[in-house]
Amino acid sequence: MVLAENVRKSFGQLEVLRGINLQVHRGEVMTLLGPSGSGKTTFIRLINHLETISAGRLTVDGQLVGYREHEGRLHELRESEVAGMRAEIGMVFQRFNLFPHMTALQNIMAAPIGVRREPKSVVRERALSLLERVGMSDKSGAYPGALSGGQQQRVAIARALCMEPKLMLFDEPTSALDPELVGEVLDVMKDLARSGMTMIVVTHEMGFAKEVADSVVFMDNGVVVEAGPPGEVLVNPQHKRTQDFISKVL
Ligand code: ADP
Repeated sequence: MVLAENVRKSFGQLEVLRGINLQVHRGEVMTLLGPSGSGKTTFIRLINHLETISAGRLTVDGQLVGYREHEGRLHELRESEVAGMRAEIGMVFQRFNLFPHMTALQNIMAAPIGVRREPKSVVRERALSLLERVGMSDKSGAYPGALSGGQQQRVAIARALCMEPKLMLFDEPTSALDPELVGEVLDVMKDLARSGMTMIVVTHEMGFAKEVADSVVFMDNGVVVEAGPPGEVLVNPQHKRTQDFISKVL
């Protein structure tokens, strides 16, 4: 589903990704770990077309991100093409980013109606069943301001799912939450992982990584230091940098 080959990204003189190689297969859950500033957010923003790569090759579901190959040449994608690709990728941020003037249900319905031009009645059915899936059926009419952080994040996940994405990206989805609200969001994410969704999750939640991740990638300073199944990377890390990091967050 995602294939990164020697992906590099610079902001001016600062090279923040220095040759990333990794792959995520369909139905797999990958967690990305690493100290602040190691390039995790930048990497998932590249996948979602929020930044463009400086060098290397990045594909999602076999399609190049940002470019189209035609007769051996690369052409930048048109805005409509980028929008089409982005519509198939769901992203959940640290801050829930719900529209404050819309109810939970309206938030979830907005993109399928506005972007995909789907009939309202169809979207409504799907949105209601997603609200149920994230345990928020009784809050469909509530505005974000009246919801806890955990509830807002669950609505944000339902909103992303309502576009029926083939890939879900999570950027530290629980790190802005009060500790007692983390579990309810992780439970929704675990349920999603078990349903077969392909997911890339930037998180420091080791329990989540151990329980549901197929692979754990430890990044530092713009490179992948170590990658493998959680039973290896988290339990028996080979590199000193990984060992130090894990001993600090556990
Ligand atoms: P992480 O998610 O691992 O904390 P980030 O991907 O957010 O790391 O950041 C990696 C580095 O890139 C940091 O040094 C950050 O300051 C820098 N960076 C991120 N976005 C930008 C930007 N738009 N312009 C300049 N520097 C940036």
